[in-house]
Amino acid sequence: MNDTGTPHVPVHEPPDTDLKARACRVLEHLDAVLPDVDAFYGDLHEYPELSGQEAHTAAEVARRLEAEGYEVSRDIGGHGVVGRLRNGEGPMVLLRGDMDALPVEEKTGLPYASQVKTEDGEPVMHACGHDVHTACLVGTAALMARSRDAWRGTVLVVGQPAEETAKGAKAMLEDGLYARFGTPDAVLGQHTAPLPVGALMHREGVTMMGSASVRIRLFGRGAHGAQPELSVDPVVLGACVVLRLQTIVSRELSPLEAAVVTVGRFQAGTRANVIPDEALLEVTVRTEDEAVQARVLAAIERIVKGEALASGSPKPPEVEVELSTPVNRNDPALLRKVQAAHAEWFGQAALVPGVLVTASEDFPFFAQGPERPVPTAYWYVGITPLKTWAEAPGTTPMEKVAHVPGPHSPFYAPDRAGSLRKGCESLTVAALACLHGGTTPTDH
Ligand SMILES: [Zn+2]
Ligand SMILES: [Zn+2]
Repeated sequence: MNDTGTPHVPVHEPPDTDLKARACRVLEHLDAVLPDVDAFYGDLHEYPELSGQEAHTAAEVARRLEAEGYEVSRDIGGHGVVGRLRNGEGPMVLLRGDMDALPVEEKTGLPYASQVKTEDGEPVMHACGHDVHTACLVGTAALMARSRDAWRGTVLVVGQPAEETAKGAKAMLEDGLYARFGTPDAVLGQHTAPLPVGALMHREGVTMMGSASVRIRLFGRGAHGAQPELSVDPVVLGACVVLRLQTIVSRELSPLEAAVVTVGRFQAGTRANVIPDEALLEVTVRTEDEAVQARVLAAIERIVKGEALASGSPKPPEVEVELSTPVNRNDPALLRKVQAAHAEWFGQAALVPGVLVTASEDFPFFAQGPERPVPTAYWYVGITPLKTWAEAPGTTPMEKVAHVPGPHSPFYAPDRAGSLRKGCESLTVAALACLHGGTTPTDH
């Protein structure tokens, strides 16, 4: 155990001894950069924008990148921003930050809490920490621009819209991200996590599950609630479907194949004495593996059709996969490189063992290159204030995580100074690990 109360992770990668020296040269500008990162974060947090509506956020990202000398392109796949900094021969590294917020009413009580509501009265909050991601992305971009003699290659800074709706990354790629700016050699992304501020978590292989949303329409025959014999009741049919879907994970998959099947929406009927004529179900599916996802989706379709048949539905059900995101799978070599760089910079004690996260991301779309897969690495940066962490009940990290506000909670409140500093450092150090070294200071 270490000062964050979490166990150590052994890192077997040989140390990149030169990395620390390069990181020192780049991060000596951090104190100069942080005040603007902090101001930008405060602005983003107080005035969050929903997915697809990130106009102000994108404009501010673009303005800051331009001020640091980046070639900036706007409106890529919606409000996407790309800043390119070409700095000699070397690899191209894409740094991705997502910019959108959630329809959540903030309850943190912070002086800079969001009070924003949409025109429809919907509250908006940066409840997933994307304000930290965006502020640190811009901070890292500034650091790289101010220390060009410490590295060689190209940095592609990507402010991505619409992550929460899983549309933004795909839209940017479809709008020619790689065709216009080139296919990167590495794509790096980080996400805030309810770990103690300063802790980092990496997982080799699958780090987040892939997801699919399935919309199901079940058809029955409506009747008076007192005359069930005249109906085909879609409520009973729907209830059978909900229960039977539970057998996919418990009876059809191996205990070693991780998956989730959740019916999050079941809508039917208007009042007690009316048997409706249809029911709507929405199901979310999470799996660790694409092949398992295909099996689960096929099982859902088979069960829904079978139950409709058993109930005597007047017409076949509709089963539609509405949205899916790939499994977020880290490139093993790239992840090890990033993890070793973080161990080198932050010390081994800052790294906590990686766990598989059942939530999903649209980040893995960046791995889909035009000709071949692009190596991606995605890790977590702790943002929980140390006092909150210390006071949380439990002894193991997972026990404590259950008692501190996490992403999508109305109480998600990152330690402002610590999260921004560590977030800039982690992204910068990871980028440097993937780029070539610059000139040595004695060359000047
Ligand atoms: Zn989120
Ligand atoms: Zn998020």
